Amino acid sequence: MLSLYLHIPFCAQKCAYCAFTSFPVPPLSKWGAEGGGFFDAYLTELKKEIEFYGNKFPGEEIKTIYIGGGTPNLIWAENIISIINEIKKYFNTESVAEYSFEFNPFPQEEIYSIIKKLNAAYAKESRVRFSFGIQSLDDEVLKSAGRFTPQRGAKSSFGQIVEFLRWLQQYKQENNVFNFDFIAFGKFNETRSGNLQLRDQGKLQFFENFVQSWFADSFSLYTLELSEWSKWHTLKKSDPSLQDRHCEWNEAIWIENDDLIPEEFQILKEILLESWYHRYEVSNFAHPSKNSIHNMTYRTMENYLWLGLASSSFLDKEHSKILNVLHWQREGWKGFGLRLTNTKNLNDYLASKRLDESKTIEMNSKDYLIEKFFLNFRTNQWIKDINEFKEILVPNYEKKIENYINQWFIFGVAPLWKGKRRDLPATHFKLTDSGMDVFNTIITDLMQEI
Ligand code: SF4
Repeated sequence: MLSLYLHIPFCAQKCAYCAFTSFPVPPLSKWGAEGGGFFDAYLTELKKEIEFYGNKFPGEEIKTIYIGGGTPNLIWAENIISIINEIKKYFNTESVAEYSFEFNPFPQEEIYSIIKKLNAAYAKESRVRFSFGIQSLDDEVLKSAGRFTPQRGAKSSFGQIVEFLRWLQQYKQENNVFNFDFIAFGKFNETRSGNLQLRDQGKLQFFENFVQSWFADSFSLYTLELSEWSKWHTLKKSDPSLQDRHCEWNEAIWIENDDLIPEEFQILKEILLESWYHRYEVSNFAHPSKNSIHNMTYRTMENYLWLGLASSSFLDKEHSKILNVLHWQREGWKGFGLRLTNTKNLNDYLASKRLDESKTIEMNSKDYLIEKFFLNFRTNQWIKDINEFKEILVPNYEKKIENYINQWFIFGVAPLWKGKRRDLPATHFKLTDSGMDVFNTIITDLMQEI
């Protein structure tokens, strides 16, 4: 069984904090009725890649299909459906558990039209998930980040988000799961009494009301992490006077404060937990049974193919063997799986030079265990046998885990024996909510290397 992710690396404009591989292009509507030829070349290559893997794994059952980006709504419903039809030619899609689509909220009418078409096309499927990148309700953040511009079909900010959400309710059908992405930017003000509070209390109240309405099935909540490739990072680096300043605006540049970002995350997280969204992964919250099925396939090391520019796939031992035309596949190979990464170079991808062989990793048992522990531990799933990971953990890991249990960062249970708890140390572990908050610290402390 495989899960498929298809990457659409285009956006109407580059967000100032973005480090993903995506290129700014005008939306399809600006290219005229036929959509111009720009996307066609990319979609043709994407379909060739589907065909390549389809021929390797003919009739393989597909668990989930995820169209992500970038901004997939730029290519419109017709192209999204044609990509999925291509998948259906080669693979068994009879029992796909989830179709997911990542959209930005604008231009509003175009988004509704795409949702309507996709909902009609997949009305009989068990789940159609739409994930909307809202990111922030703060006008200054959104404008500075370049998320509210005419290029994106957005003229104002907060008011337009409210408008988008209000009308969105009409388009939700029974098999839909609606997810909303937010980022904690850490934007606080000092009050007269000297305390810090989130800059805009009215927007915070709106967020709370929205969460409490239960219209959303799930939320992704991230903390702002500026990669060195992002515009904000480059701007900050280019001006030495900005280096030591935090939490302020300077010519529309957001100067992030590393301490305040987790503080905002805590505020937003509490609102979600109080409204019964459970935290099923460090950055993800959902109502029961509304977890992203696709995202959990990564966390549990199931087979998935990421197709498109700069994509990275994982195939287990059995599936890796099937790709034996690849030259690194040797006779008698004892690997545990393959991590395959596609090129980041658009011209290379368009010339069918898809794979970046320098980044292809044949995973040995240690590589496999490192990834498995790192990914499993981010979720609310149990690590069922910690001894399985012994060789990648620090020598005194048992003592450390015991300390974390005492501090309520890790939840541990002992095995049951004849219905009674045996007097043995815990072997089943998972992070508590506070543990998830400091996931990076705990994982670095427990693992020999990451
Ligand atoms: S919409 Fe997403 S992928 Fe596109 S530029 Fe913004 S953050 Fe990057």
